[in-house]
Amino acid sequence: MGLLTALEGGYGDRGDAVVVDGRSSSWEGLLGAAGAVAERAAGATALAVLARPTLETVAAVVGGLLAGVPVVPLPPDSGPKERAHILRDSGAVLLAVGGEDADTDPTGVGAGIGLLPVDLAARAGAAAPAAAEPTPDTTAFVLYTSGTTGAPKGAVIPHAAVAADLDALADAWQWTAEDTLVHGLPLFHVHGLVLGVLGALRTGSRLVHTGRPTPGGYAGARGSLYFGVPTVWSRLAADHGAARELGAARLLVSGSAPLPVPVFEQLTALTGRAPIERYGMTESLITVSTRADGERRPGSVGLPLAGVRTRLVGEDGGAVPHDGESVGELQVAGETLFRGYLNRPDADAEAWTADGWFRTGDVAVIGPDGFHRIVGRASVDLIKSGGYRIGAGEVEAALRDHPAVADAAVVGAPDGDLGQVVVAYVMADGPVTGEQLTAFVAERLSVHKRPRRVVLVPELPRNAMGKVLKKQLLDLG
Ligand code: ATP
Ligand code: MG
Repeated sequence: MGLLTALEGGYGDRGDAVVVDGRSSSWEGLLGAAGAVAERAAGATALAVLARPTLETVAAVVGGLLAGVPVVPLPPDSGPKERAHILRDSGAVLLAVGGEDADTDPTGVGAGIGLLPVDLAARAGAAAPAAAEPTPDTTAFVLYTSGTTGAPKGAVIPHAAVAADLDALADAWQWTAEDTLVHGLPLFHVHGLVLGVLGALRTGSRLVHTGRPTPGGYAGARGSLYFGVPTVWSRLAADHGAARELGAARLLVSGSAPLPVPVFEQLTALTGRAPIERYGMTESLITVSTRADGERRPGSVGLPLAGVRTRLVGEDGGAVPHDGESVGELQVAGETLFRGYLNRPDADAEAWTADGWFRTGDVAVIGPDGFHRIVGRASVDLIKSGGYRIGAGEVEAALRDHPAVADAAVVGAPDGDLGQVVVAYVMADGPVTGEQLTAFVAERLSVHKRPRRVVLVPELPRNAMGKVLKKQLLDLG
């Protein structure tokens, strides 16, 4: 099977090749259970997997891929409404669950859904799974986007795109069977599951999933390659002892949301390693700030991965120059792209250009050297105020320079006069007032970029991947 090629290279029999939340297995051991899942799932329209961080989840996902059945990971803590929506939308008829969920009431997960308990001791029967061998065009996953800008959309991702993603990362980072990948990310998102589990399977590297992404778990796992979202890295940067342990690693990689500059600097100082930023989305991987042997430009997410083409398009639909200053919407084409959204012709109509490029919805700048800088999302991070276009990230960075600011998120609030005005939400970890912060940024930002209001909040609303939910902030007023 294409995606699991590394196993054919003989890396499959190491006893602790896969460690998830303290339990270990060889890849071969998991393939037995996966084969049994594949046998049950063969021919199904889609296989949902209750994606707790367990060995059973890994086996179930691999089983679905072996059977050529679209795998639909369900967030384990999703409420009944979200769960019912994903099951109905994806057309899943089977839900794979681990031992602890084996007595889940199928009527509680949706009418017509059969439970498929995953047993690690199970083996496929003598008869090979009846499934047709998946082709590059077979759907590997239906992955739901994070829902930052609207209702989550089911992205249909073929085997070929997953293979292209993983091969591009392996090429960029010289990621091989010699590596141990460590992370503790959710297994229902592209980052933790596709890159963080299948990446290990594809390259033959060891995988240590720490159950949860805690500084202690990361420090104790002795990896060569670590994945995290920015909140994971900011917690590590605050735990000096744990961060120093990571100095022995080869690569520390941040993805899924922008990595704040202070966190980048603290981690670099503590570990002696400059973290790598990976930029992409459920729909496609796009760039990495640094190759294993490459140069890093501060503030940049770097160059497109192998097989990815990018272009910048202005509001008038014209090409935006790559001059390191002009902003435009980033559009993407290439082998790593998803195929479209499930049951969302409206979202597809918005997302694809007439000539087949994908509109990322992110605003970016490209330099003459091809290095990309992400300004933010067109819908929430690009503030249009009195004829000016203001990137929320620049204002957030100015606020984060204040020693009492733990985190900041900036939005454009509707305004009858200027269209939008800049409003900042700040999580403080020291004594500071909104007025003091207003005065502080006034020394750093030109007048039109200064926040009209600075609101102190105990916590910024974030989703499971650590993305700030700016729509919710706007609702706070
Ligand atoms: P939805 O599409 O449902 O609104 P979402 O876009 O947050 O949700 P994902 O596919 O998980 O769902 O996230 C992709 C987005 O995350 C990108 O479009 C980009 O805005 C942001 N992102 C990811 N990595 C980075 C990064 N390194 N730097 C800046 N932004 C990033
Ligand atoms: Mg998106």
